[in-house]
Amino acid sequence: MKAAVVNEFKKALEIKEVEKPKLEYGEVLVKIEACGVCHTDLHAAHGDWPVKPKLPLIPGHEGVGIVVEVAEGVKSVKVGDRVGIPWLYSACGECEYCLSGQETLCPHQLNGGYSVDGGYAEYCKAPADYVARIPENLDPVEVAPILCAGVTTYKALKVSDARPGEWVAIYGIGGLGHIALQYAKAMGLNVVAVDISDEKMELAKNLGADIAINGLKEDPVETIQKKVGGVQAAISVAVTKKAFEQAYQSVKRGGTLVVVGLPNAELPIPIFDTVLNGVTVKGSIVGTRKDMQEALEFAAMGKVRPIVETAPLDSINEVFDRMIKGQINGRIVLTMQETN
Ligand SMILES: [Zn+2]
Ligand SMILES: [Zn+2]
Repeated sequence: MKAAVVNEFKKALEIKEVEKPKLEYGEVLVKIEACGVCHTDLHAAHGDWPVKPKLPLIPGHEGVGIVVEVAEGVKSVKVGDRVGIPWLYSACGECEYCLSGQETLCPHQLNGGYSVDGGYAEYCKAPADYVARIPENLDPVEVAPILCAGVTTYKALKVSDARPGEWVAIYGIGGLGHIALQYAKAMGLNVVAVDISDEKMELAKNLGADIAINGLKEDPVETIQKKVGGVQAAISVAVTKKAFEQAYQSVKRGGTLVVVGLPNAELPIPIFDTVLNGVTVKGSIVGTRKDMQEALEFAAMGKVRPIVETAPLDSINEVFDRMIKGQINGRIVLTMQETN
């Protein structure tokens, strides 16, 4: 089968023929139709993070496709089902986190397109118990970004504890942010969208943002404090340290900053303000299988629709180049061509 392979960090991916994965007990083989390109894939290909991915690596954790083979022991999924293979590729099911509905914190988890091969390929295998069932009416290309960008932002909003009618600020209206905004609106929240281009402001308004702030033209913290008296929750999916600092300062007393984006930086938090204002700072990583089901349900009901652009698997290196230059609106989804 054809796959895009990272042989060495910071080098171009190689498009090559590799062996089709062989199934073990409880696994399914998925013929990938589409796989979204997440910023994490770029970090994986560059070996940017303290915990390195396996090498060689087939990245991708937004793979969607049809189950073409099931191994012994598979009960929940059958041949012909459309499924997604997410970042939470598997967890142990037995540790304190798995047992308490926090499987995303499982220390024994495997991660799709990182510690195991992912969806930048014609086929990908996965444990049946952890694949996401894709609702029938959804298009594989359009739904792919829900597998990571969708569930991640939906979960971040959930843990923010913001309630319908309250204000949230979303810093960064890119691949994750434009989806976060739609979940927030669908959840009955009022939204301030912050980014640094007029194009993103236009997009944010079209997606229903109540207030859109171009951070290059006005100070988002000042505007947010003046117009709504601070937000109940701020979600930072941006990739700059400054956005995280501003997100923190946008939160009102008793509010929450949810940290989602992963810039390679520290977040200095003023102790005095945090204590006196009773501010909570939380990290949030993807979502559980239950969160995934809920996130997909919003998409199935047409309440959340990722903006996607398709590109063939072979063009992944150009896609990464555009990602580095910040030239992507919404999400790029790779499509697999037939080679048989
Ligand atoms: Zn991702
Ligand atoms: Zn576990």
